[in-house]
Amino acid sequence: MPEVTKVQQFVHADSSGGWEKSWEQGLIPWDLGEPTPIILHLQQGGTLPNGRALVPGCGTGYDVVAMASPERYVVGLDISENAIKKAEEMSSSSPRANCFAFLKEDFFTWCPSELFDLIFDYTFFCAIEPSMRSAWAKRMYELLKPDGELITLIFPISDHVGGPPYRVSVSDYEEVLRPVGFRPVSIVDNHLAEGVRQGREKVGRWKKLVGKPSPSQ
Ligand code: SAH
Repeated sequence: MPEVTKVQQFVHADSSGGWEKSWEQGLIPWDLGEPTPIILHLQQGGTLPNGRALVPGCGTGYDVVAMASPERYVVGLDISENAIKKAEEMSSSSPRANCFAFLKEDFFTWCPSELFDLIFDYTFFCAIEPSMRSAWAKRMYELLKPDGELITLIFPISDHVGGPPYRVSVSDYEEVLRPVGFRPVSIVDNHLAEGVRQGREKVGRWKKLVGKPSPSQ
C-alpha cells in the first residue's frame, strides 16, 4: 500500500493521533529531507520579514532552521511528539540553535505569549480537514502582528479527491483569508518547486488589512 494511503487511514481514524502514528512508523511521504528551495531563495534575497516567525505543522523543521537568524527567531510547531523529537535531533548541532525552538502544540488551540511578524505555511493547509480552513484563517489572523505577513505555498493544485493532502486552489485560500481581513500582496508560480511539485505550487504572500479589527474582538 502506498505510504500516503496509510497516512490517510491513520488520520481518518484519529485526526490528531493519526499524525503521531505516521511519525512513529516513519511514514512521512511529504518530507523533502532539506529546506524548501523557495524559502532559502526568499531568505537569501532579504525579502522575509525579520522579528518572530512561526512555522505551523513544521514536521522535521528544515524550513524553521533555514529561516532562523540572529534577526529572526523562528518557532516550529507540530502536534506530533515524534516530529518534534526528530526536528530537535536534526537541528541539534546547528550554529543557529539559539535562533529557533520546536514546540509540541496544536496550532488551533496554542496561545503564544508574543505574536508573530511572519507565518510560513507549507503542506499544513493541505494537511488539515477542509472544514477546518476557516478556523485556520482566523488563527493565522490572531497569531500575526497588525503589520505581519503570511506566506503560503499553495500546494497541491490538482483535481484529486480526498486527502490528506487535500487538493487546493488559489480561491480556496482567498475564500477563507479575505473574510478575516487578509489581502494578497502577490500570488506567483513557485519556479523553485521540487520535482513533481513543479507546476502544482504557487507562492502566496498575504498582509492584514490596516485598520480592520481582529475577528475575535
Ligand atoms: N511542513 C512539513 C510537514 C507537513 S505534514 C513539511 O513540509 O515537511 C503536516 C504536519 O502537520 C505533520 O507533521 C502533522 O503532525 C502536523 N499537524 C497536523 N495537525 C496539526 C495541528 N493541529 N497542529 C500542529 N501540527 C499539526
